[in-house]
Amino acid sequence: MRSGSASRRCFGLCLPITGLNEGGRGGYCAGMRLFDTHAHLDGFAAEGTVEAVLARAQAAGVARICAVGSSEASNECVVRLAQAHPDILLAAVGYDRDQVEKRPRLDRLAALAQEPCVVAVGEIGLDYYYSTETAPAQRTLFSKMLAFALERQRPVIVHSREADDDTIAMLKEFSIAWKKSFHTVEKSGPGFPQHGKNQPPVSTAWKKVFHGVEHPPPPGILHCFTGNAAFADQLLDLGLMISFSGIVSFNNAGPLREVAQEIPEDRLLIETDCPYLTPAPFRGKVNEPAYVRRVAEVLAEARGVEATALAEATFANAQRVFQWEGNR
Ligand SMILES: [Zn+2]
Repeated sequence: MRSGSASRRCFGLCLPITGLNEGGRGGYCAGMRLFDTHAHLDGFAAEGTVEAVLARAQAAGVARICAVGSSEASNECVVRLAQAHPDILLAAVGYDRDQVEKRPRLDRLAALAQEPCVVAVGEIGLDYYYSTETAPAQRTLFSKMLAFALERQRPVIVHSREADDDTIAMLKEFSIAWKKSFHTVEKSGPGFPQHGKNQPPVSTAWKKVFHGVEHPPPPGILHCFTGNAAFADQLLDLGLMISFSGIVSFNNAGPLREVAQEIPEDRLLIETDCPYLTPAPFRGKVNEPAYVRRVAEVLAEARGVEATALAEATFANAQRVFQWEGNR
């Protein structure tokens, strides 16, 4: 079923998405439970419009939003917002590549990361699009952030632009270390590791732990994915989740929609990356979490599934990557 009809089947309770900017709060969207895994809300906080933005999100079926920081000020802001709105917001904190010259404080980040509402380290990463001059400094900061996340066993939310080879190289190291960090076996423990051809069968205890090693939580998310199939494959091999933004709805995004079709359902996430990248046909309006519904609809159409099913799958994936048990 294509998404157009799927969204119309939404029990008639949804606020029509075209009504987003017309004020008012429609009924809660009973047919969809969406998770916007990447929203920058500090601008709305500065304007005093967060309450209205969250109300419109809930009316559009958005049950959860991860408010993402990137600087000292925005990290403080998103944690404060998540604490004030525990029914809908989670937070991620980190220092992004544009902070390289500001010498951001790790001690403050460590304090924020201890807050229960903080579920990830991000956004962090590499961007060589504007300048390659800062590339070495970006890699140093990214490496620090990866170590910070590893120490706390928190997933990372990664930005990569024109830096995919370096991103993969660094994430490869991270994901190997991540997997090992969930390897809880004592090296001196009985029955490990000796499953050679002529050796006795592994003990039950070791089998149990082996299962744990094979299934650690995902190490992170490549957010706002715009790469090709080869990049996606590399990320999937490392165990990462792949998150699509409103870019997937753009007229010229045919190749990206083709890549999106091939991502396994259990690795797919949706986001707005608001206030940027408003999905079509709402270009020109300020992006906000309510529009993540449009991202779900476009992806569902590309994949030939119902939007409600895609929303549910991506919600479950977000819960898994954020190691977050809550519901809504
Ligand atoms: Zn972002």
